[in-house]
Amino acid sequence: MKKLCALLRKTRQLRRLIDQEQGDALIIVAVSMVFIMGILALVIDLGLAFLSTGEQQKAADAAVYSAGRLLPIETGNLTSVDQIKDSAISYASLNGFPDLTPDDIILGKISNGQYTEIRVNVDKSVPMYFAKIFGIDYLDLSRSAVAKLSPVIRTTGVAPIGLTKEEMDARIASNNLTHVTLKYGIQNPAPDDSPSFFGALDLDGQGGGASDYRIWITQGYAGEISVGDVLLEESGNMVGPTYQGFEERYAACTHFGALSGGDGCTTEHFEPSCPRIVKVPVYSYGADKKTVVVEGFAAFLLENQTNDGYITGSFLNMVTNGASSGMNVGEGTEGDFGLYNLILSE
Ligand SMILES: [Zn+2]
Repeated sequence: MKKLCALLRKTRQLRRLIDQEQGDALIIVAVSMVFIMGILALVIDLGLAFLSTGEQQKAADAAVYSAGRLLPIETGNLTSVDQIKDSAISYASLNGFPDLTPDDIILGKISNGQYTEIRVNVDKSVPMYFAKIFGIDYLDLSRSAVAKLSPVIRTTGVAPIGLTKEEMDARIASNNLTHVTLKYGIQNPAPDDSPSFFGALDLDGQGGGASDYRIWITQGYAGEISVGDVLLEESGNMVGPTYQGFEERYAACTHFGALSGGDGCTTEHFEPSCPRIVKVPVYSYGADKKTVVVEGFAAFLLENQTNDGYITGSFLNMVTNGASSGMNVGEGTEGDFGLYNLILSE
């Protein structure tokens, strides 16, 4: 009997010990669960937050890419600075981020007194759900995009008339780029050995003559022309087709009140896609004097012309389609004649 009692007592002690351990285990499980749930909650919250930065990045990219088409901008031209900032803000808003301020738009890379780069910062406070347990109510996330100008080295829509690199360099050096007179259809005195060159170029090398030339003058050449391309000189002065083509282009402007008796596109305000703006090749003469070598491209805004081979217009700095070298504006002057490509640079 004594033995039985002792055994019973031992069993009870054992029981208590087991209960005790079970209690400890429960506490450990409970604590682990809270810890695991906490980590899980953080992972879910952070995951959702970072997933949402894709939208932020898209909005920043869209803003720099759309507003960047207004580059380059004179650093002192506050109206244009406001305009490009407003444009970036409105594109970010269209992409779901309506809270940008002018301080989120940063213009930079000044070259020759002009901004050639735009940065847009898109910030966002993402509310936390589970992480609130740890006292984290919001997570501030920032995304940015940068677009810069780079001189165009390949583009479409080029006109079959241009000017020499020598002349363009001299105009840039003396800042003689507005309301200038260019002549065409008049024998160029420069290439003495090329008496049949009147400034017209055969862009496809097929010798298509006046009908091709007329289309290229009016609409631009549909194919791509690149720096380094060798173009044939068109024989014949082409005064008639050039004059008619430029008249058509001038009349086709539909911007800035052109349709209601206004001036249309001028150097003060212009739409880069306007037919009044002609993309012209800047070239040097080939060794054989029958060809020219493309050195770059310029944009020329038609202002006036006479029917005997003189046109007046202004060179513009603007963005166009095409490919660029990736070089910054002003970094090496080769091939930089004011026509640029806009590229995302970060
Ligand atoms: Zn226009």
